[in-house]
Amino acid sequence: MVGLNDFVRQWQDTQQDTLEAVRRVGESGWYVLGKEVAQFESELARWWKIDHAVGVGSGLDAIEIGLRVVGCKPGDKVLTTPLSAFATTLAILRVGAVPVFVDCDRYGLIDLAQCEETLRADPGIRFMVPVHLYGHSLNLARLRELRERFELRIVEDCAQSIGAEFEGMRTGTVGQVAATSFYPTKNLGAIGDGGALLSADADLVTHARRLRDYGQCAKYRHDEIGLNSRLDELQAAILKHVHLPRLPLWTKRRREVAGAYRAGINNSRLAVPGSPTGSSSCWHLFPVHVAAAEVKSCFMDHLRRRGIGFGEHYPVPIPDQRALTDVKYEVRGSCEVARGLCATEVSLPIHPYLRDDEVETVIAASNEWSG
Ligand SMILES: *Cc1c(COP(=O)(O)O)cnc(C)c1O
Repeated sequence: MVGLNDFVRQWQDTQQDTLEAVRRVGESGWYVLGKEVAQFESELARWWKIDHAVGVGSGLDAIEIGLRVVGCKPGDKVLTTPLSAFATTLAILRVGAVPVFVDCDRYGLIDLAQCEETLRADPGIRFMVPVHLYGHSLNLARLRELRERFELRIVEDCAQSIGAEFEGMRTGTVGQVAATSFYPTKNLGAIGDGGALLSADADLVTHARRLRDYGQCAKYRHDEIGLNSRLDELQAAILKHVHLPRLPLWTKRRREVAGAYRAGINNSRLAVPGSPTGSSSCWHLFPVHVAAAEVKSCFMDHLRRRGIGFGEHYPVPIPDQRALTDVKYEVRGSCEVARGLCATEVSLPIHPYLRDDEVETVIAASNEWSG
């Protein structure tokens, strides 16, 4: 069996360091918003080369808090993508804002040319949540142009793109805020839930720290309605002392696996998209596309028979989800590209502990599939 992820192997590698981190937190007697969180925040900010980081409860909360600190209010329109984890749109809806979906390109990234058209046609749109999907970076030069020309407030969803770059620029450095997730499957996963938002703007960061802690401005003084969304000391300690130091090697291994798949998979019934021009992907996922929607389940059955884990990212475009039936949203143009990708995409195993023989097994199984 080749797993889509392998946390047992991760544990074998990390347990000694992790137990040591747990012991230190336990002995400190301080479990919420203490020095582990503060130290992890400064390590993460240093590593990401963004001035400040704020640890929160999840990636979803990081996006919601990010939107609130850039001034997004109920009823505001927010440009976003139909192809992402549902959390991207859910964060917008939790603010009470209105998602405006713009279709994606063949790599699954929001189409920035169509965003520009939309922004020209509707100058009332002031906010955007773009997603660096699969670990690919959007064209950050184009994104910066849009931000400047239309005075956009941007929360970059970097849940899948930690470490990804566009022409040497890190994802998360164009928006006023970057949001990321430490859900275990993410490139920098915790062993539980967690997230962070990063920003160069000290005022936004102060506001975010208040919002994650009930909106307290001082102990038991509440100036606004906040959340309980605090990264806890245990996860912060594990992230700082155990997982963040391993992230460069983990990312290197993901890139090796992606390189091997791209070189080795050669089947006219499977499209292997690679990464968009200028993007140095961190390969959170490795999507391939079957030639037609009708044969997707056939490919998945084939992988199942070969004992290969796989995923679907994502089977349903967000505006087609039933949860959106009774909420206000807009779709600009159609979401035909997103719909097509949803109908044909299958994610192959990619993670830092995947062995070479398993990579070969996945390549052989992909090449032997005859549709
Ligand atoms: C995982 C993910 C999220 C949500 O993160 P959680 O920590 O699970 O709340 C948001 N956006 C994208 C693109 C994700 O992959």
